[in-house]
Amino acid sequence: MNKENLNTYAKNTWCPGCGNFGIEASAKQVFNDLINEGKIKRENLVILAGIGCHAKIIDYMNVNSFYSLHGRVPSPAEGIKMANPELTVVGFAGDGDAYGEGISHLIFAAKRNNDITMIIHNNRIYALTTGQFTPTSPKGFPGKSTPQGSLEEPFNPLELLLTAGATFVARSYTGDPNHLKKTMKQAILHKGFSFINVLQPCKTFYDTFEFYGKRVYDLQEKKHQPSDREMALKRIREWNYTNGENQKIPIGVFYDIKKPTYEEELLKNRNPYKQPIPSLKKILEKHI
Ligand code: SF4
Repeated sequence: MNKENLNTYAKNTWCPGCGNFGIEASAKQVFNDLINEGKIKRENLVILAGIGCHAKIIDYMNVNSFYSLHGRVPSPAEGIKMANPELTVVGFAGDGDAYGEGISHLIFAAKRNNDITMIIHNNRIYALTTGQFTPTSPKGFPGKSTPQGSLEEPFNPLELLLTAGATFVARSYTGDPNHLKKTMKQAILHKGFSFINVLQPCKTFYDTFEFYGKRVYDLQEKKHQPSDREMALKRIREWNYTNGENQKIPIGVFYDIKKPTYEEELLKNRNPYKQPIPSLKKILEKHI
């Protein structure tokens, strides 16, 4: 198979220069490589998206897919994985979508360690609705809903997800496609909840390419140990989504540990799709 097989007939309507193109191209390449390497099966791959510019990725990818409600990508992703643990489940979501509307769903998926991957297209703006501030926009951001500047400090989604219990926490950047592909591949192969915050500039409403271009550096330069939680937190806190002049922005895998997944704990190697759940009566008889 080659990655062109993953193309669809849908006309791409992202703005020229949008960071979403980098995520789509990287995901197609990674899916294609993993399929050819025998690590995942195309028929077992399911992708999901929420609402926002990012969500059109579903239309451009010829694999099993599901559009969720706004911010709710983790919930159907968890359900799909629990119904058939043999599936590879990858959710795409925007920052307004995942960190605004759906933050509790994301936190609980991390807490449970569901074996799903969440890839967040973080342009730090609600772009489909033409430019309102999101939870990761910098303070003072002059969006459509805050013309005189947002009064709120952004939060750091990596710190939040690490604290919630995510077993794989990473950041990547659409301006570095090789880094993005490498990180996506690691995240998909990780057993447990994996999370990538992808810095994805919105060319039309919040063009951050130059800002990131001057500040992004690879964590590998610092010999980072992703099994060390304290070190992960320290590196994650190097950048708190503010727009200070002298800041450096680390990208890479901050945290990566092994822990039993929610599906393993719940199903004990049973696949509900192949072995339907015993009747409730039998379960009650066994436990009461
Ligand atoms: Fe991309 Fe921004 Fe255009 Fe949406 S509005 S397609 S995020 S450049």
